[in-house]
Amino acid sequence: MFFRWFLLLGLLMSIQNVNGEETPKWVVVIHGGAGDPTNWDDAKRNARLNGLEQALRKGAEMLAEGATAVDTVQAVVQVLEDDPAFNAGRGAVLTKDGHAELDASIMDGKTRNCGAIAGVTNVKNPIRLAKCVMTETKHVLLAGEGAEQFAANQNQELVDPDYFLSSTHPDANPDGLYLGTVGCVVLDQHGNLAAGTSTGGTPNKLPGRIGDSPIIGAGTYAANDTCAVSGTGVGEEYIRNSVAYDVAAQMRYAGRSINDAVTQIMDQTLKPGVGGLIAVSRTGEIVMQHNTPGMSCGSADSNGRFETRLK
Ligand code: ASP
Repeated sequence: MFFRWFLLLGLLMSIQNVNGEETPKWVVVIHGGAGDPTNWDDAKRNARLNGLEQALRKGAEMLAEGATAVDTVQAVVQVLEDDPAFNAGRGAVLTKDGHAELDASIMDGKTRNCGAIAGVTNVKNPIRLAKCVMTETKHVLLAGEGAEQFAANQNQELVDPDYFLSSTHPDANPDGLYLGTVGCVVLDQHGNLAAGTSTGGTPNKLPGRIGDSPIIGAGTYAANDTCAVSGTGVGEEYIRNSVAYDVAAQMRYAGRSINDAVTQIMDQTLKPGVGGLIAVSRTGEIVMQHNTPGMSCGSADSNGRFETRLK
């Protein structure tokens, strides 16, 4: 008798997550940067929302067809990198010297393999190169000239650095937080998690400055026992506090829910106005939180969820 109840309970738990929602087969969550969208005009708002929608649709289609979490993260981030409305790839903000220096990272929650690149100036899709570092080398992070040489050897698409100068950033406050770094976290149909982040960094940064986006455990983290996380905001703060890893650590060692872990970081670890986080747990719970006035973000899952927002 007891055994039968136990089986029934197990079955119920397997199809519902802690919020009582039906556990989705797949989930994709994206962000397009934290910051303040208050003064944006309609054109800017629409460009952002359209960009988020396109990326989310790409992820939803791939996951519905059974694509892996890592492949989906790469493809979704690539859509956002090609969109000049975001501070990643084509739309990257510039250093004090007027150049684009791009950072990106990706992590596979199943194997905890990861790859990252920092400070590249001529690579069209940094997230693709980050994935190549993960799959084609024994290293985790390549930077600068060496990363660019590696890109050439791997037949990555290289562009003239002017490619990144074509977009304008009317809302880029030179000393403030720029809203536009991109990230994606995924739970796939096979039960695997992955996370990726890509950015041009903070506007007016010193040449050579590297933020949290290519640092595993700071801007990006994924592990199948807990969650996948991507951050956006003042990178230095995310590095100081190992933010992405801390979400997983709170879940792993303190038994916190994903929502409580992210709330703790947003409300207590980070100072107000510093940034935001997206995360998905191994049971498909979604978190999108920020302590800035806004964060471009969106989420979709196999239960029919499909939403994008700027705040
Ligand atoms: N976190 C990024 C960096 O510090 C910037 C951002 O998310 O807006 O490079």
